[in-house]
Amino acid sequence: MSTDTSPQNSTDDSSTDVLIAGGGPNGLMLACELSLAGVRPVVLERLTARAEENRANGLVGQVVRVLDHRGLHERLTGSAEPPRPVPGFVFGALPLDLSAVEDNPLHILGVPQRRVERALEERATELGAEIRRGHELTGLSQDAEGVTAEIAGPGGPYRLRARYLVGADGGRSLARKLCGIGFPGVTRDDTISRSAHVAIPESLIDPATGGLDVPGYGVVPPFMHHRTEHGLIAYGPFPGRPAILTTMEWGGSDGSEPPPMSLDELRKSVRRVLGVDLPFLPPEGEGPHLLRLLTGGNTRLADRYRAGRVLLVGDAAHVHSAIGGPGLNLGLQDTVNLGWKLAAVVRGQASEELLDTYESERRPAAERVVMHTQAQSALIAPGTETTALRVLFGELLRDPGNARHIAATMAGSDVRYDMGSADAHPLAGRFAPDLTIEVDGGAVRLAELARAARPLLLDFTGDAAAAKEASGRQDRVHIVTGRCSGSSHGVSALLVRPDGYVAWASSSPEPDEGELGTLRTALTRWFGSAT
Ligand SMILES: Cc1cc2nc3c(=O)[nH]c(=O)nc-3n(C[C@H](O)[C@H](O)[C@H](O)COP(=O)(O)OP(=O)(O)OC[C@H]3O[C@@H](n4cnc5c(N)ncnc54)[C@H](O)[C@@H]3O)c2cc1C
Repeated sequence: MSTDTSPQNSTDDSSTDVLIAGGGPNGLMLACELSLAGVRPVVLERLTARAEENRANGLVGQVVRVLDHRGLHERLTGSAEPPRPVPGFVFGALPLDLSAVEDNPLHILGVPQRRVERALEERATELGAEIRRGHELTGLSQDAEGVTAEIAGPGGPYRLRARYLVGADGGRSLARKLCGIGFPGVTRDDTISRSAHVAIPESLIDPATGGLDVPGYGVVPPFMHHRTEHGLIAYGPFPGRPAILTTMEWGGSDGSEPPPMSLDELRKSVRRVLGVDLPFLPPEGEGPHLLRLLTGGNTRLADRYRAGRVLLVGDAAHVHSAIGGPGLNLGLQDTVNLGWKLAAVVRGQASEELLDTYESERRPAAERVVMHTQAQSALIAPGTETTALRVLFGELLRDPGNARHIAATMAGSDVRYDMGSADAHPLAGRFAPDLTIEVDGGAVRLAELARAARPLLLDFTGDAAAAKEASGRQDRVHIVTGRCSGSSHGVSALLVRPDGYVAWASSSPEPDEGELGTLRTALTRWFGSAT
């Protein structure tokens, strides 16, 4: 799968346009995005094979629609059906009923991180990215023209020159540290979380919910954190793989190490959290099986996303609690925001100013995740005050308007990018709705038109004035004229960036000169001057 074409001795110096340090999900997704935009990156991954450890159990939020834009949703689900919003989820161990929510923004894709990484690695390789496994970034320096990376490869140390380097090297990012980018935030050391694959005897499954029917306690619903006064328990009966049982407890930070993780330790923890025994069994089938102990946690946000020619994406830029599963929603959307901008700068079609919008658009999204994961952590903590807060919060969540607010926050669709005009169309700065367009006798979804990651100008007006306005940029912008079938969300024409965000929109049957002027401005701002 991976190609190792690295120099095998330390004296060879070669160069590339973009070097990505880290071949986790975000490094691989960025490699796909750059390759789609015509820039072939080199990915350095220090591990020789993909890690066995599975972190994420699923993707939560707008990222599911982003993957649909790239055809990756179909790859991961094996179905061409578009993603549908979920009728409910959970926030801070409180049920979030979304069944009565209009225009529900919350999508979930229940695939484990290892499968997401495998699909991304396959796609990046197909698109021509070069993935060097067993190659570790060990140092870097930069000047006005580029970055020199020091790398430890299987054949020894070597240097590689790149015009830009992206640190996708996780929460302990060396790229971030070498650039002197601060990572302020908080570290907690008073929580202990235990997770393991388990087998649950049939007699302990609640037939109504599929959750656990715990003798002497009652029902623990599936796929949601369940809080007691003593801690948290979660039961995830994922189809096709062993069920995951997780507990979280709060304790003093007395400096003593918790006993090593084992199924017995998990049993004791369940007893402390629920007050009764849960007679679960070891997991069936071939391993490796999950047996994880995590103590404490970090909530930190890089104070800059860019230092000269080095940029950060994913966990290298932000770490936070995994509650609610926001990590890949945030990180993968960072890469989709950065990919087309960096490619345009590398290809000489945009100035470096375009790169500044990466941080100004994506850092607020990370701030929202920091906020809602901390809010959820407060809602699951032990104590009677928290119990009282939960009663009140639970009452508020029953209002569909509040439920929608929380769903949009978890989806990451609450952040609106600045499209440069205070009186812009309500869709400008938002992720584009998945319109269905009738073209050449067939129907195509906007998400399908977005597969090539090119800017889209969609014109549903009679005189195609918006399409004409973009015609000088046909080399960069994919222009589609047709009729919108189904809901048009009130738009007659729209300009969509490669990351799926609306840069300009009109609701007029015939946009006037003023509106066409704002379209011209948007085209130049995002995609350069007409040729
Ligand atoms: C227990 C747990 C559960 C989670 N659950 C969810 C969930 O349900 N949903 C969700 O969306 N998110 C979840 N997350 C978060 C998600 O796993 C992370 O956000 C995601 O892995 C970040 O991807 P990344 O590519 O930025 O970093 P990483 O996944 O950390 O990848 C970084 C890569 O860089 C490599 N690397 C590091 N240093 C170097 C170097 N110097 N040179 C070369 N390579 C290097 C590493 O080997 C690694 O492969 C969870 C996290 C944890 C810990």
